[in-house]
Amino acid sequence: MDMATAAYAWFGVLEAKTAGRSIPLGVAQDAEGNITEDPSKVLDGGAIRVFDGSHKGSNLALMVELLAGPLVGAAVADKLEAKNWGNLVLAVDPELLGDRDAIRARTQAVLDRVKAAPTLPGVDEILLPGERGARVAAQRLTSGMIPVEPNLYRGLKLAASKAASSNGAAAAANGAANGAARPAAPRYKLSTLLLHPEPGSVTDPYGASGPPLYQTATFAQPGATEFGPYDYTRSGNPTRTMLEEQWAALEGADRAFAFTSGMAAIAVVTRLVAAGGHIVAGDDIYGGTSRLLANVVPACGVDVTNVDMTDLSAVRSAMIPGRTKLVIVESPTNPRMQVCDIRAIVSAAHAAGALVVVDNSFMTPLFQRPLDLGADISMTSGTKYIGGHGDTTLGMLATRDPELGKRVYFLQNSEGAGLAPMDCWLALRGLKTMALRLERAAANAAKMADWLAAHPLVTRINYAGLQGTPGAELHRAQASSGGAVLSFTTGDVEVSKAIVEETKLFKVTVSFGNVVSLISLPCYMSHASIPAEVRAARGLPDDLVRIACGIEDVDDLISDLGQAMEKAARLAKPAAAGTGNGSGNGGGNGVSDAAAEREAALLARIAALEARLDAQGAGR
Ligand SMILES: *Cc1c(COP(=O)(O)O)cnc(C)c1O
Repeated sequence: MDMATAAYAWFGVLEAKTAGRSIPLGVAQDAEGNITEDPSKVLDGGAIRVFDGSHKGSNLALMVELLAGPLVGAAVADKLEAKNWGNLVLAVDPELLGDRDAIRARTQAVLDRVKAAPTLPGVDEILLPGERGARVAAQRLTSGMIPVEPNLYRGLKLAASKAASSNGAAAAANGAANGAARPAAPRYKLSTLLLHPEPGSVTDPYGASGPPLYQTATFAQPGATEFGPYDYTRSGNPTRTMLEEQWAALEGADRAFAFTSGMAAIAVVTRLVAAGGHIVAGDDIYGGTSRLLANVVPACGVDVTNVDMTDLSAVRSAMIPGRTKLVIVESPTNPRMQVCDIRAIVSAAHAAGALVVVDNSFMTPLFQRPLDLGADISMTSGTKYIGGHGDTTLGMLATRDPELGKRVYFLQNSEGAGLAPMDCWLALRGLKTMALRLERAAANAAKMADWLAAHPLVTRINYAGLQGTPGAELHRAQASSGGAVLSFTTGDVEVSKAIVEETKLFKVTVSFGNVVSLISLPCYMSHASIPAEVRAARGLPDDLVRIACGIEDVDDLISDLGQAMEKAARLAKPAAAGTGNGSGNGGGNGVSDAAAEREAALLARIAALEARLDAQGAGR
């Protein structure tokens, strides 16, 4: 091989000068480092540049290819063949060529000359090949940490878990033979993992007790053509990565994703269905989800069928073969607390080739783990129990299948719905107390449900954790707690309204998951966006009261609710009597028999309640 390592031959420059010609643009520079076509300026302290990215130097590449390919038996045609690599080591003993020290000194002189060469403006230092890498290595040895790009980290984790599970399977097979223990379960329980997350891809060299908040939109890159692990916060931010990795561990997921709200998360899931596709969803679902499915999704060419998810045959017959791509499940449903058989719905959906997303906002993975029950995606409105204080909106998705995870990430980045760094930080703080808050609130709800079930003003109570209520047994088979939300009816909107307004400790607010107890009439608040006739058809009565228990002392909560119900009962009487007179006077005005019947039933209940209150009063 005979070649120059320059973009243009030295002799070519001399020749051009002699002939009074210019040299090609881009191959050489003047003494100031400016690109020039003038050969005299190149000869006057300038320089010829290295290979120009064209065919120049291809002979060098070809030499390397021949030495490391045919010579050592590596792939020569198809590079993707099994053995597509080869190694050739050329070692030169300098002593064969002269005095070792003299050669070392002459080598050093070349390196010194390169390092001492004049630099272009803005260049601080000339680095020899390998010098940058050696410095980074030294710095990482000192700090003891190596930053890993998140996608690479996930790939490594996946490979490790696959290796672990195949080792595990081997160990289990051996174990079956010699009676040894099963492979180890996750090291810690979830409530511990909330406080001690497994080390993830984001490391903090300073050991801060709070997670680092990367309140930034952009990240500087290591070079013009080199990318660091993060470049733009819409695409990725270390504070968001910390939240997403911790959440994935809690869900037993491959990946998790944080969004600006629960609705943003659900919207991204519906995007997985292309135009012409079909979604099956429950008929007792969160108002915002209902609105999205009724008014936004159909405009994208996707049809939606709402069914009673507690009725498996209805779910099966709602599926359109070849078109149904997604089934959206809530369990327990909101606000009637109906329980759906998640495992059975998953197998029906999978048989039809549809994905299943479970809206797990009521339970969180602490109480119910949709991915373990077979769902493809677990969704949680983090506005509720993750934030926990009613001060942040956020939503999480968790996926098991890495390919599905990639599609979700693509949508998160493309649509820009990823959670902002400050909100990720608040969510990370919320996680620390999530188990404590949720367990206390659920214990309060269980006690309150028992108390309400025995209250004469209550015509029906909905709480998945209440023994003997429909669905309670199924719920116990797929969740570990009834949760902290319950609802009940009184048979009369005015009575329900009075209860809501007469409580003092309960804030009249939509939502749940706040440390403070909340009370609402869903038909007038969270579910108002569902048209009245649809609500009626779905069995969502206007007199339904929903309580989201907080973490107050449960005795205080119950006595507050008790005084409100007492007042409601007394208030209801004159109001009901007034209506009664009215209907009596205006019978000819077309008051329906049903209304009259309902009124009579209410009056009878109030009378019974008053008799009971009087009896208690007499007892005291
Ligand atoms: C609150 C809620 C949502 C929506 O979450 P946001 O964070 O308010 O957008 C979805 N599903 C359920 C069951 C919810 O309670």
